[in-house]
Amino acid sequence: MSAARTARRPRGGPPRAGRAAAAALGLAALVLSSGPAHAAAPGGPAGAPGQGDPYFPLSGNGGYRVGHYALDLGYDPATRHLTGDAVITARATQGLGRFDLDLSGLTVSRVRVDGRVAHWSRHGQELVVTPARRLRAGAAFRVEVAYGGVPRYVTDPDGSADGWIATDDGAFVAGEPQGAMSWFPSDNNPRDKASYAFRVTVPAGYTAVCNGVLLGQRTAGGSTTFRWRQDQPMASYLATATVGKFDVTRSTTRAGVPVYNAVDPREAAAAAPALARIPDVLEWESGLFGPYPFSAAGAIVDDAHDVGYALETQSRPLYDRAPDIGTVVHETAHQWFGDSVSLTSWQDIWLNEGFATYAEWLWQEQHGGPTAQAAFDRFYAQPATSGLWAFPTADPGDGAHIFASPVYTRGAMALQELRTAVGDRDFFTILKSWAREHRYGHGTTAQFVALSERVSGRRLGPLFRTWLDTAGKPAAP
Ligand code: ZN
Repeated sequence: MSAARTARRPRGGPPRAGRAAAAALGLAALVLSSGPAHAAAPGGPAGAPGQGDPYFPLSGNGGYRVGHYALDLGYDPATRHLTGDAVITARATQGLGRFDLDLSGLTVSRVRVDGRVAHWSRHGQELVVTPARRLRAGAAFRVEVAYGGVPRYVTDPDGSADGWIATDDGAFVAGEPQGAMSWFPSDNNPRDKASYAFRVTVPAGYTAVCNGVLLGQRTAGGSTTFRWRQDQPMASYLATATVGKFDVTRSTTRAGVPVYNAVDPREAAAAAPALARIPDVLEWESGLFGPYPFSAAGAIVDDAHDVGYALETQSRPLYDRAPDIGTVVHETAHQWFGDSVSLTSWQDIWLNEGFATYAEWLWQEQHGGPTAQAAFDRFYAQPATSGLWAFPTADPGDGAHIFASPVYTRGAMALQELRTAVGDRDFFTILKSWAREHRYGHGTTAQFVALSERVSGRRLGPLFRTWLDTAGKPAAP
């Protein structure tokens, strides 16, 4: 079954060491105490350089919320040079003499705030902006950042690459968890979701594929400009602007959702069977989870095997190779669980991965394969020494373990245990209610537990404590 192999899954790191958790806490402390770069600004208070996520303390910033990103990009696959002009519309949540954006590498050439040239400096991944005039609490403002260079992808604590990853014919652009900052300045934390408009110019013959709806494309003077728009709120890690030589096919689902598939010709034959089922998968998942949350769909299938995973880029998942049907079901399920309903904290990553893995189990169960209970039983047979039980599902401990089997597989097992406890009727009501109540927003593990108890009328504390919060193999259910 697909849960055993898989490209999208982690190259599971070593079991969590207490040391790593302590290191993460140390970093969190660093964010909370303001270093020299963030001491009280002369022009008024400074926004925090991070949002205090224990796993990625510097991801995201304090003091403002973004409403919209307008990204105007140019990329030349031959030189790997990216030029960018980002216009960010935001609102100050406090008075701001200074605030940060997240940007790693690249060279900034100009920053303006509300049309006035702003002072800026770089400190690691922080682009520190000092506007000519202090921003008042509650004020809407507009930041424009002009930048360029050869992007360098981010290497995450688990050793994986994310962000702008150059390929032999373009770039594979996947930002989970931190990589968005390798190609555009942002408030790089899923707590701050925004709408996006993209304009991407590439040499004629190449295709640039982003999230959402294709507004148009135009070729002139040897280059093609693609315009895309993602209207529903999106976390920065789910943005993409993948470039390559792609075969493009467009269609519309029975529900009227436009489907745009871009496939590297080298993967096209192998990808065709799973891609042909995208409309069926969307319809089947809409039946289980409620209406599809976005106004476009599709897939980007690249030939980027070194990447080693797929990503649920919003509205249009990105695959590093031809996916099988299980992987398509998984990434599509993330559109409800992970994309529409976002994490509040990276510790809660099982709300993404456990649910998407469980969707694979459900697909098999309802398409002539083993039942979800059989999948559960198969994994439950793993010995107590297995990495599957190495840490609690809802507490991976640090950013190096967010894509490991206790999150994916044990997370799905937790849902199967919930289903057994409350029965099918309540279980599927819980899944639909979760998607509906937190649509376009955020959720936490505590909220999911509370919803499950509310719908079922049962006390589920012990079940969730065992399956989510306790390390080690649970006693026989
Ligand atoms: Zn996933």
